[in-house]
Amino acid sequence: MPELIFEKSRPGAGSFTAATGGVNFGGLEPRLPKRGLRTRPLGLPEVVEGEVVRHYLGLSTLNHHVDKDFYPLGSCTMKYNPKINDALALLPGFTGLHPAQPAAEAQGALTLLWELGEALKTISGMDAVTLQPVAGAHGELTALFMIRAYHEKLGRPRRKVIIPDAAHGTNPASIAMSGYEVVQVKSAADGCMDLEALKALLDEDVAAFMITNPNTVGIFERHIVEINALVHAVGALSYMDGANLNALLGIVKPGELGFDIMHINLHKTFSVPHGGGGPGAGPLVVKQRLAPFLPGPLPVRMGDQVVWGERGPDSIGPVHSYFGNFGALVRAYAYIRRLGARGLRRVSEYAILNANYVRVGLQDLYKVGFAGIPLHEVVFSAINQRRLGYKASHIAKRLLDFGLHAPTTYFPLIVPEALMVEPTETESRATLDRFIAAMRQIHRECEEKNPLLDSAPNTTPVRKLDDVRAVKQPRLRWRKEQD
Ligand SMILES: *Cc1c(COP(=O)(O)O)cnc(C)c1O
Repeated sequence: MPELIFEKSRPGAGSFTAATGGVNFGGLEPRLPKRGLRTRPLGLPEVVEGEVVRHYLGLSTLNHHVDKDFYPLGSCTMKYNPKINDALALLPGFTGLHPAQPAAEAQGALTLLWELGEALKTISGMDAVTLQPVAGAHGELTALFMIRAYHEKLGRPRRKVIIPDAAHGTNPASIAMSGYEVVQVKSAADGCMDLEALKALLDEDVAAFMITNPNTVGIFERHIVEINALVHAVGALSYMDGANLNALLGIVKPGELGFDIMHINLHKTFSVPHGGGGPGAGPLVVKQRLAPFLPGPLPVRMGDQVVWGERGPDSIGPVHSYFGNFGALVRAYAYIRRLGARGLRRVSEYAILNANYVRVGLQDLYKVGFAGIPLHEVVFSAINQRRLGYKASHIAKRLLDFGLHAPTTYFPLIVPEALMVEPTETESRATLDRFIAAMRQIHRECEEKNPLLDSAPNTTPVRKLDDVRAVKQPRLRWRKEQD
């Protein structure tokens, strides 16, 4: 392990020298009460400037990230984010703007928000939008609050929300947090929705049905129009978890499939950097009948100006301060404007092509979770390797030795020893070939019972961790005496 900056500290080696007489406030000395003044120094590390720079640059190369190498995390869409989007979001006109600036003085920013909303409506086939939610899970929660408000307005509150057993973990969590009861419906043998099982669960107590399409095994639900009609027949709303739209851009509009409401993760499909917890953006698009319940205020176009619209009486109220994560919205806007309709469609076409290139390159050695042609991601099941004595986790950890990030493992739960790969459209054929070659070599190592599999990862700064202890006894703070 590299040394911590505190361990590099040498008394007197500080990077700067302050004037000995203290700071000259020119007669405006802050009058802090004595008890508020520090009596002992802060205990900051003392390191010369050059070493500080090298220290942090070194740290930045220890962790894996999408600018360093391939990051095929299924469902998460870890794609390369063009740097021009960052450059545009950092324009001083954007970064220097105060969120409470009067609308008349912030027309550029407001127009950007309005146009981004219009683009998302067009892409999704929906009628209205809010950009406020700052994550996928936040969009889900906002949607569920709106769904509740909608049913209450009609004077028939309901209790249940149905999800498939392969749902992303945030779905049941958001449902429970919004006070609804989670009802799971089984997947059929082909990885799609079991229509008969769904029919048996649908009744007048169901507030909504939530589904990801393509589903979490990467397969498009062929019966989705029929499913949405069944949901509507009992007066429930149909929610699409659109966190990952990488398979659909310019090809399918969820609004035209009968969905009423959907969140979109700009930090997945629309090139906003993510990982490490944010900042993200999870805008919500809805059909007209849900528009009155949207959080507000919303930007509205009035002639050639964009102004903040009044929040209507049925609005659930704001779910975030001001407009959500503005910097993330600028990046997504730049990305959408740069690609245009044709470019966005090509994103999905290449994402699908790349996932299937990986599938075909590996399917003789790694069992594919479900028959049929997946779209933007492919789920393998490491059951051939398990017969040889190795689990999906061995394969995932050994991949790190090749400088590649592991796929998502053990999700979805309905696939045993799942390895979920989403290569995304931004990877070149050379990178995909390198990944396929590494996976094929790892399979050979399973056959040879190569000891490198048990000790993996062998080349990372931190070696094999005790997963359980890491969760139960985390060491979150460095103390000298620990070492
Ligand atoms: C990532 C993801 C979410 C959650 O999004 P966050 O921004 O991480 O909260 C929800 N559903 C699906 C299908 C996802 O892939």
